[in-house]
Amino acid sequence: MSSNRRPLKSLGQNFLVDGNVITRIIQAAEIQPGQAVLEIGPGRGALTGYLAEHAGQLVLIEFDHALAAWHSAQHKDNQRVTVIDADVLKVDLADILSETPQKWNVVANLPYNISTEVLFRLYGVHDRLARMTLMLQKEVGDRLAAPPDCSAYGVTTVLLGLWFDIRRVFVVHPGSFHPSPKVDSVVLNFIPRSEARADVGDEDVFRAVVKSAFSMRRKTLINCLKSAEFAKQIDCGELLEACAIDGRRRGETLSLEEFAVLSRWVTEMLGTQTKAVAFSTGS
Ligand code: SAM
Repeated sequence: MSSNRRPLKSLGQNFLVDGNVITRIIQAAEIQPGQAVLEIGPGRGALTGYLAEHAGQLVLIEFDHALAAWHSAQHKDNQRVTVIDADVLKVDLADILSETPQKWNVVANLPYNISTEVLFRLYGVHDRLARMTLMLQKEVGDRLAAPPDCSAYGVTTVLLGLWFDIRRVFVVHPGSFHPSPKVDSVVLNFIPRSEARADVGDEDVFRAVVKSAFSMRRKTLINCLKSAEFAKQIDCGELLEACAIDGRRRGETLSLEEFAVLSRWVTEMLGTQTKAVAFSTGS
């Protein structure tokens, strides 16, 4: 059967084989009867059977064509299950999640090699989400809870922290997977907030500010900001003065509130030109 083919390292295929961990993830997901659920990377279906039974609507996005075909066959009689044979980084998530007015519950044991990029994409659709339960490499999970001015504090900490309350559920050891990864993993709950943790002005601007501040960790904040697209239109010295933030600091020392102030001022200074600024979502 295709689902038993050798796991592909290139697709981060470390399949869950520990029934206890599978049960705990399902419990943490708190799927409500009839809820719309998205599973990214269902793999051999460790979590999928339960989701298919309990979700009102289940969308599976799987990049391994053989596994996607296997899921399509498995669920061919279940109208509530849709299999998307595609790269989650290439699909239009906002479009997929607009299929129903309900908010979505996302469940995923993410492939390590793309987990940060997937987090950015899920951040981009935070307003369509009811909850997320994600398994990540422990180091990536630890970053999300890191305080300012430590090496783990980064773009994901600041962006995801704006819109989600993030709670560590439990740590998963390598022996719970086949094949075993080299590192520990962690399961996290992401609960979207009804209001952002801070007023950041334009969110595209906020993303650009945060990304530029972390773009060169050894450089000063002012030099990092100067490398951003928006710096072609505004004076970063004036910006930092207006915000009362010392440009000699490093970006990683800024709190969420300080990023919010910077973002509000950039939004203000760009004025109507804001939408002309080019932004990207990469790490
Ligand atoms: N959910 C299964 C489990 O817990 O056993 C599999 C998890 S495995 C860590 C990651 C899964 O994501 C694999 O099935 C892999 O094929 C799939 N995958 C990898 N890259 C992907 C991508 N870019 N888009 C969608 N799925 C991807």
